[in-house]
Amino acid sequence: MLADKDRIFTNLYGFQDWGLKAAKKRGDWDKTKNLIAMGNDAIIDEMKASGLRGRGGAGFPTGLKWSFMPKESKDGRPSFLVINADESEPGSCKDREIIRHDPHKLIEGALVAGFAMRARAAYIYIRGEYIREAEVLQKAIDEAYAAGLIGNNACKSGYDFDVFMHRGAGAYICGEETAMIESLEGKKGQPRLKPPFPAGAGLYGCPTTVNNVESIAVVPTILRRGASWFSSFGAEGNHGTKLFQISGHVEKPCVVEEEMSISFRELIETHCGGIRGGWDNLLAVIPGGSSVPLVPAKDIIDCPMDFDGLKGVGSGLGTAAVIVMDKSTDIVRAISRISYFYKHESCGQCTPCREGTGWMWRMMERLRTGDAAIEEIDMLQQVTKQVEGHTICALGDAAAWPIQGLIKHFRPELERRIHEHNAQFAEAAE
Ligand code: NAD
Ligand code: SF4
Repeated sequence: MLADKDRIFTNLYGFQDWGLKAAKKRGDWDKTKNLIAMGNDAIIDEMKASGLRGRGGAGFPTGLKWSFMPKESKDGRPSFLVINADESEPGSCKDREIIRHDPHKLIEGALVAGFAMRARAAYIYIRGEYIREAEVLQKAIDEAYAAGLIGNNACKSGYDFDVFMHRGAGAYICGEETAMIESLEGKKGQPRLKPPFPAGAGLYGCPTTVNNVESIAVVPTILRRGASWFSSFGAEGNHGTKLFQISGHVEKPCVVEEEMSISFRELIETHCGGIRGGWDNLLAVIPGGSSVPLVPAKDIIDCPMDFDGLKGVGSGLGTAAVIVMDKSTDIVRAISRISYFYKHESCGQCTPCREGTGWMWRMMERLRTGDAAIEEIDMLQQVTKQVEGHTICALGDAAAWPIQGLIKHFRPELERRIHEHNAQFAEAAE
């Protein structure tokens, strides 16, 4: 279990004020000028050494991503940092807590990260539904400007850096980094083909790095306490502390900062008061937000909650939004509901996703009621394979994976429903 002294987010539950004065008392904005004085490349090296992997879901190494940004401006083009606060993954609510209760960690992180990658400004793209959070964030940005912490000669460092907040309008797909860039440019939020990656051609065609809120908010603490402190947590290749968001059938759902690689059992026992009805009542877990496959109870209980551990059981850490389902769950209905979500949120740009998400959802609804033929289970599996890897962005994969997980682990349940439905039909016909 992570000791209190090792927690980065010391105001996660809002017991103290979020404002600048209280944030400074907690250690934020403490000699930030000295962090900047480390120099661009030294900061990037330190982030690489820390082992931080992107906290938005994909887990790409953060320091490596920053190193893709150009050291010299080409044709006078500025570089930008875009911070992804469009937290929309079902089950995810950690960035919301950071912005609500610790916004200065994010703003200070934006300054230091922006400096490291030689960016002129940061755009924080916040999900439209986060109305109160957007109010807090804007007030915190205003406070930081008024105190000379950002803007011209930020923290008296000689470096000019602006921070802008931009509100989304409720589209899940705008959380995809290139759709976010399109949306910031005032266009319809639809993903671009990659490559080029944003570091080559991003916002307004300029070099851009898109990072998640949590990834940026932890930067000042990592630099103050050192890469070796951060990398002392978690298993090899999965270092650091992490915000887990546990919802569903546990006694006490919560958001909590823990050490990466903690086992599922320890996470739930320590922070959530156990599974509702006890461990024997656990059915399955979606460990990383709705985009990753479910894991049945027997495989998850002793699994390390990190990128590699969850990959080993056929799933992923994603955003660490841990959705716990006990035996009262209608698992087919739950996955069908997720299918509906992806159908609804598809931007419609590529055919396998536009047509496939609707097709998969309709098929899932028939399987939910049992109104299907046994062979259609394999047909559905084949359709998921035709969507997976054949689309512009990861939404297609995200729509396919939960269904693949269901078929892999709960095929007997799907078959049972079909047999039951057919038996009722035959009985009625007699
Ligand atoms: P990705 O693996 O395509 O990219 C991850 C990051 O690494 C991106 O910033 C990308 O630009 C960069 N990158 C990858 N390969 C690169 C290369 N060769 N050169 C330069 N940069 C490179 O994943 P993604 O589509 O950005 O994200 C998918 C994840 O997002 C899913 O795993 C899901 O868990 C998560 N997600 C999160 C939310 C949320 O609310 N936080 C919502 C939906 C999905
Ligand atoms: Fe749009 Fe879906 Fe294609 Fe992504 S995969 S670009 S959401 S149609």
